[in-house]
Amino acid sequence: MGGPEREAAVAFRLSVDPDRPEGRGLAGMAFRSRRPCISNDYFADARLTYFYDIFRKGGARSGAAFPLIKGGKSIGVLIFLSAEVGTFQPDLNALLQKLADNVSFAVENFDRAEEKAKADERVKYLAAYDSLTGLPNRSSFSQLLNSTLVAARRCRGKVALFFIDLDRFKIINDTLGHAEGDALLVEIASRLRQALREQDVVARLGGDEFVAILPEPGRKADINRMAHKLLSAVMKPMLLKGQECRVTASIGVALYPDDGRDEQSLVKRADLAMYLAKEEGKNDVRFFSKRANTQSIERLVMESNLRKALERNEFTLHYQPKINLRTSQITGIEALIRWGQPDLGLLPPAQFIPVSEETGLIIPIGKWVIKTACEQHMSWRNEGFPPVRMAINLSPRQFQYELLLQDIDEILTRTGMDPEFLELEVTETMVMQNVDQAIKVLSAIKRRGIHIAMDDFGTGYSSMSLIKRFPIDTLKIDRAFIRQLPQDKEDRAITDAIINLGRALGLRVVAEGVENDEQEVFLRDHACDEMQGYLFSRPIPPEEISVLLGQRAIASPNLQPEACVHFTGPMTEKRV
Ligand code: C2E
Ligand code: CA
Ligand code: CA
Repeated sequence: MGGPEREAAVAFRLSVDPDRPEGRGLAGMAFRSRRPCISNDYFADARLTYFYDIFRKGGARSGAAFPLIKGGKSIGVLIFLSAEVGTFQPDLNALLQKLADNVSFAVENFDRAEEKAKADERVKYLAAYDSLTGLPNRSSFSQLLNSTLVAARRCRGKVALFFIDLDRFKIINDTLGHAEGDALLVEIASRLRQALREQDVVARLGGDEFVAILPEPGRKADINRMAHKLLSAVMKPMLLKGQECRVTASIGVALYPDDGRDEQSLVKRADLAMYLAKEEGKNDVRFFSKRANTQSIERLVMESNLRKALERNEFTLHYQPKINLRTSQITGIEALIRWGQPDLGLLPPAQFIPVSEETGLIIPIGKWVIKTACEQHMSWRNEGFPPVRMAINLSPRQFQYELLLQDIDEILTRTGMDPEFLELEVTETMVMQNVDQAIKVLSAIKRRGIHIAMDDFGTGYSSMSLIKRFPIDTLKIDRAFIRQLPQDKEDRAITDAIINLGRALGLRVVAEGVENDEQEVFLRDHACDEMQGYLFSRPIPPEEISVLLGQRAIASPNLQPEACVHFTGPMTEKRV
């Protein structure tokens, strides 16, 4: 407010209330009508009689009131006074109206700015904190860890990072419902917070995953104590849906600077250590160690490489001959897979079959083995070699796979291989898991004319009466019983018993892992049918098998197709 009457006007109370005299002036009218209100001659304006005394004292003769509007409502009035009559002509009024508009606009935006600041703050909060537990979330955890690491680097301090994961949380969530699951997470969050020191950070990464950052954590024993304190805090009973419940957690610990110097490696290693705590029984604490690291990382790398190995054609098959102990003829060949891993060289199956089995990759890999071995068999036949039976190992998962037989049929049809020359090797444990189902699958295999061998026999727990029920052709005595023949009395007894059992059931018996002459002699003397082992040949690439088969053709050019050549000495041993 400016102008001649400023002092008086400031002292005078105006009102917007039409029931009060001071509310009936220009300002009140402008406010209520939300339109400008102008009087170019006060003393000629009957609306303003109440104000005449004031005008006389102050000297104002004309005036204009412009409402300030925000969101369609009056929030104030701008008043202009003049000592002369007739001041407020259209040009000036337009200008003043603009001024009032500008003020209104500014006020409105001022409010908007305030609203925006509030909203920004909320967004910032939501971006930094977990809405369920109120703990810092993943992104602010990352910032907090980084700043803690910067500080530790500066003062050569240590930092412990805990990766905390609830055990079997999913079960609780599924059985009690999400609301209870949430309540549990809130409770756990507050327990973790309370169990830690003021300067420690606890954050929620999502789900039932929490992390804690402990600057200056002390010695390893102190850190261990702290982690166990968290475990006991988590473990205390709580009431959910009126029931007393208990949860446990597994904690993995990584230390700065020993285990890693940056956020990524510390988090990864704490996570790995937590994974080990879970693997080794849960409700426990594990510190990261280099050993744990190589084990887990190798596994991860292995898994991702295995996925690509098939399409990159990195698998190969080696073949190991089986020899008839009476005639010393090659009676069959076992296909054994190898992985030509670009970084690690030729890997034996023990290093990748278990992972393939766990991940299910064994299904496509196993199918590749069957296809490749059958193709190899046919290519030997096409080269004119007499047929030898091809043995292929099945894994438990493959054996349970419902499309196994369909795959085999397809491969046999496509390659033109006679099922008679295919032999599938299964193990006792595989068929013992579900005897009736196993008998069904084995019978279906058998109906096609395919042979079946019981591999690694003697290591499982199948009873003799059960063996009778399985439609098998061959028993392969496990290497473990052959190794110490003929010295070990027990192994002698077991081997002898298996040979006799096989004979009683009309099965062929093959001894695996035959490495020396004494073993061979013992087996021959005990009427074992066949042997397989380094003594005769290691598993070798197909070209070398061709050489073996070729020697046989050259040695006896007049042999009938089913006859075999007699080998006298052991083959040169080939490293695989
Ligand atoms: P397995 O079926 O018992 O195969 C025999 C294993 O004994 C082979 O090991 C072979 O190299 C080894 N061996 C043969 N003769 C001797 C010997 O005189 N002395 C010793 N110490 N060992 C001998 P490999 O090739 O490393 O295969 C290991 C296992 O991997 C196999 O045991 C089989 O269970 C599995 N496997 C191999 N290929 C495949 C495959 O294509 N599919 C599946 N599912 N498993 C396979
Ligand atoms: Ca085998
Ligand atoms: Ca075996």
